[in-house]
Amino acid sequence: MSHSIAVVGTGPAGFYLADLLSKKLEHSQLDLIDRLPSPFGLIRAAVAPDHIATKNITRQFERVLQRDNVRFLGNIEIGKDISYDELKACYDTVIIATGAIEDRQLPLEGADSEGVYGSGRFVTWYNAHPDRYDFSPKLDGKHIAIIGNGNVALDIARILSKTPDEMADSDINPKAQQLIKDSPVEDIYIIGRRGPEEASFTPFELEELSQLSQAVPLVYSANGESLLIPQQIGEGYDGRESKIRQKNLEILQRYSENQAGDNAIRLHFLFWHNPSKINTENGRINSLSLNKTQLKNNRLVETRETLTLPVDTLISAIGYRSTPIPGMPFDQPAGVVRNEQGRVEAGVYCVGWCKRGPQGVIPSNRADAIEMAKTIIADLEAKPSDQSNNQCRTQPKPGPGAIDELLSARKIRVVGTDDWHKIDQAEIGRAPEGKIREKFTTVEQMLAVLD
Ligand SMILES: Cc1cc2nc3c(=O)[nH]c(=O)nc-3n(C[C@H](O)[C@H](O)[C@H](O)COP(=O)(O)OP(=O)(O)OC[C@H]3O[C@@H](n4cnc5c(N)ncnc54)[C@H](O)[C@@H]3O)c2cc1C
Repeated sequence: MSHSIAVVGTGPAGFYLADLLSKKLEHSQLDLIDRLPSPFGLIRAAVAPDHIATKNITRQFERVLQRDNVRFLGNIEIGKDISYDELKACYDTVIIATGAIEDRQLPLEGADSEGVYGSGRFVTWYNAHPDRYDFSPKLDGKHIAIIGNGNVALDIARILSKTPDEMADSDINPKAQQLIKDSPVEDIYIIGRRGPEEASFTPFELEELSQLSQAVPLVYSANGESLLIPQQIGEGYDGRESKIRQKNLEILQRYSENQAGDNAIRLHFLFWHNPSKINTENGRINSLSLNKTQLKNNRLVETRETLTLPVDTLISAIGYRSTPIPGMPFDQPAGVVRNEQGRVEAGVYCVGWCKRGPQGVIPSNRADAIEMAKTIIADLEAKPSDQSNNQCRTQPKPGPGAIDELLSARKIRVVGTDDWHKIDQAEIGRAPEGKIREKFTTVEQMLAVLD
């Protein structure tokens, strides 16, 4: 008997799991549902637009869409077009893979001022996510601060520093490119509460900052002098982790010897500083107060030293939450789908960032999907006598035909695999020479290609 599966969300987690289940469950019919007419989640919407090689993973996911038992159903938002309960009533197994890209707000006075943005909003803007069509960040000042010491902070600093020529083969939103080009920015501060050793950069992204044509990375301390970077990482890191951190220190050591020179943009790494207050004038940020920090008995403490930086735009890269779907169990404080090892309730599972929180890179979602595929298959194969602990078995459901009827009755324009390919080709076709694609920036523009 055919087994119907709905995967809600077509980012890496949804695709990796769809790949496994559509192969392993021979008689399954699997629908990959997304609120956007385009698949691929944050690969399209957050991975930096100049990291085209990273985005090439989508070719592997395209092959999943070619399987006879897999459909893409784009332009359907669960919780809005189809309710969570309706979805459960249609499919034997429902998998939530909706990611987590809602910004956590900075716990600081002034965090809602003009010129202060979360990195989720910012990166989806320069990646042309339709939700950001009306967003236009203030980039009209000389000083930008980015709070966070991970790769997202480096991505943002790099994209803000690159010239249009350096972005020529990217898929950046042209409106964002124009605003960045016109920005008079001279100083970008990358701020971390802890030190260089604790930063969660990866060496590739860190090293990229040394290759920028008009920007120079500097390591800055509160009194304006170069910060001493330790030669050697401390104890407590395992093999791979210690190599990454040691390499980071080597790169930062080199950066600490850099001089600003006549570079148009200075990228300042400011370690050991905790933002304490956003200062404003007429509702707009104009400076950021910070407290110097240090480690005392292995605990991070603030010292009495303070620093105030002139800041016209502040971007916080301090983590994300998942967006709850009405009716779906949700852990509000953690900002993830409420689950026990991926089990949500009878017949419902979750995977990826909406399950684990915003941790890990694209391949981490593969490992997660492998685990979840095992769990789902084990639950399905469990004998009725074993099911006392298994809440995940339900009565057979009507399957995809039922959702098609609902969608048709509600006159929802479903974007199927062929439709997506038309949108894809139109984006590639309209790109200026040298650019990989020029994304549509609204859902209406995407649908206009089809109808
Ligand atoms: C700024 C940034 C840069 C990154 N750069 C890299 C990188 O260079 N390399 C790397 O390996 N990793 C990178 N990552 C991490 C990577 O993007 C994540 O690991 C991965 O995208 C998480 O996958 P996911 O499937 O859980 O969620 P997502 O990729 O977010 O996919 C979720 C999908 O669910 C859909 N959806 C949400 N709600 C609904 C709903 N109600 N109904 C229907 N559909 C819905 C969304 O439209 C989306 O398509 C980056 C992350 C960020 C934030």
